[in-house]
Amino acid sequence: MRITCVGGGPAGLYFATLAKLADPGNEVTVLERNPAGVTWGWGVVFWDDLLDDLFRYDPVSAERIWQAAYKWDEYEVRATGKPTTHLAGYGFSLGRHRLLDILSARAVELGVNITWSDELTDLADLPPSDLVVACDGARSRIREAHAEHFGAEVEVARNKYIWLGTPKVFDTFTFGFEQTPAGWIWFHAYPFDDKTSTFIVECTPQTWSGLGFDTLDARDGTERLRQIFASHLDGAALIDHRAEVGRTGWQSFRRVTAQRWDHGNVVLMGDSAHTTHFAIGSGTKLAMQDAMALADAVGSGDDLAVALERYEHRRKAAMAPLQRAARASSAWFEKMPEYAHLPAGRFSYALSNRRGEYPTWRYLLHMATQSAIPRTLLRWTLSARRWSRARRRTDAGQVTTGHAILPHTA
Ligand SMILES: Cc1cc2nc3c(=O)[nH]c(=O)nc-3n(C[C@H](O)[C@H](O)[C@H](O)COP(=O)(O)OP(=O)(O)OC[C@H]3O[C@@H](n4cnc5c(N)ncnc54)[C@H](O)[C@@H]3O)c2cc1C
Repeated sequence: MRITCVGGGPAGLYFATLAKLADPGNEVTVLERNPAGVTWGWGVVFWDDLLDDLFRYDPVSAERIWQAAYKWDEYEVRATGKPTTHLAGYGFSLGRHRLLDILSARAVELGVNITWSDELTDLADLPPSDLVVACDGARSRIREAHAEHFGAEVEVARNKYIWLGTPKVFDTFTFGFEQTPAGWIWFHAYPFDDKTSTFIVECTPQTWSGLGFDTLDARDGTERLRQIFASHLDGAALIDHRAEVGRTGWQSFRRVTAQRWDHGNVVLMGDSAHTTHFAIGSGTKLAMQDAMALADAVGSGDDLAVALERYEHRRKAAMAPLQRAARASSAWFEKMPEYAHLPAGRFSYALSNRRGEYPTWRYLLHMATQSAIPRTLLRWTLSARRWSRARRRTDAGQVTTGHAILPHTA
């Protein structure tokens, strides 16, 4: 089969790898507009569920991702005028650059042809292909070219955000809320290697313009943020890559949906089909799980139209709960100032329960684990769970390494 993936993000590179694993005879090309090693964004977070899937589908790249991942325990919640509180849990993070390096190296090892600095500007320029995968991101040119057919819609969220990096290495995933004369502004920060953290800042549009971000250029705007969050940064800088090209990274989140994902032999995958608000940190996971589902469907030997239909159906069903969670989560942040009066423990609980689904015992556990000894015990318990889950994955990987597409239950 001749397969062309337009876009060398996580979705495109991972699908290319799986398509080669399924059948080394597949001719797979990835067109990527950026040069090798160049991408946008900073670190991304993920959890055990993605790692479980990665180890099932390709233990080789999974092991590399696992080795490179930064492991963090707990969430810390800081807010002006309140003592610091903690939320139970653990997770992993990895720089987007590093993730794409791992995925592209693996794809090339298997014989995928990646053409860097190769931007598709006209669909007529596509090489002859049995399957064209449009994995060209949230602003997909292919989706836009057939917007009516795909039933694509873009909803722009209210809050403003900016995705920054910092050399300040946070101890763990940290939410920090600062009260300013123009209103509340907050960050989500997490380390993703031993030199760098992601630092995403968000606020309402009123606070954004009240603080002057609508008129400040990128450098002055970043400096203003550094002053606002000085007590969290220990003198470290905030970095906005866009400042280097005279632009600012402030944006409003664009929620993309598409009623149909296929058009003849063209299929949408990852952010080109759906975006998921960063408040639940899952877009990369969903993009890679799309790749798994598409590889299964295409590898089934069914007629292409049937396979693409099955892929879309499976992914829409699997994503629905997460999409609801993402909406609830972004809505919580849009109303954040309404929760600011809560005492520290209740405030951080409201933040963790922003999807509104937790049973009462979670609240009781949360309050009980704000003191040192119960918190340490819970942390040890969760560390043991993380360790045993990692062990199970690795053991299963050792048994199954070398298979093409691995058995799975997703
Ligand atoms: C602030 C922020 C924080 C986030 N944090 C997380 C997180 O913590 N965890 C998480 O799981 N997700 C996170 N995400 C979401 C995640 O970044 C995306 O969901 C993910 O990158 C989607 O992967 P993709 O491969 O579909 O698209 P992309 O990563 O956007 O890749 C698309 C690729 O296509 C290329 N391309 C585009 N057009 C063309 C063209 N015409 N020709 C050739 N190439 C083209 C682009 O250069 C790009 O490399 C975050 C997103 C944002 C905005």
